[in-house]
Amino acid sequence: MPTIFTHPVIAVGLSPWFKQIRDSRLLLFTGIVLTVLPDADVIMFRFGIPYNHLFGHRGFTHSIFFALIISGLITWFFVHRHQLKWVPVWLFLFLCTMSHGLLDMLTNGGKGVALFSPFSNERFFFDFQPIEVSTLSIRRFLDGQGVKVILTELKWIWLPCLFVFVFGWLLARAKRASQDSQ
Ligand SMILES: [Zn+2]
Repeated sequence: MPTIFTHPVIAVGLSPWFKQIRDSRLLLFTGIVLTVLPDADVIMFRFGIPYNHLFGHRGFTHSIFFALIISGLITWFFVHRHQLKWVPVWLFLFLCTMSHGLLDMLTNGGKGVALFSPFSNERFFFDFQPIEVSTLSIRRFLDGQGVKVILTELKWIWLPCLFVFVFGWLLARAKRASQDSQ
């Protein structure tokens, strides 16, 4: 996986593109949580469930199906409670959840991602894997591997997200200015 600090950058990068998210810190925070939630499956190691298992690491919680279900359920909750348009809220939350597995597929270590779980447990990587995989061991991370990981993440995730964020923010500002002048 990329580090736990890097997955949330996707939610922040996408946030200016959705009016509902710009207006709601709670929705942004939910999106941030969803970018890291798939890695809750590391707990399965403690229960003796192997990496390759359907519910093992990078298994079901990293799939398209999981992203659809969890984003759908949370959107239903928000739309009912706060009378929001469901499509942008759902799209944002889906993209946040799905980004996790896709970023894992860009890493150069571990096993692949079970993108089509629970229908298939086949594991996938992208052909292009520029991101140094982050170790689960804090000691090894601090021993020097961490610097390598952070540098590849800055280049391949933080920097593109910064561009997406700034571009979205400028567009939103220009739109607001043109509405104010009408
Ligand atoms: Zn992961």
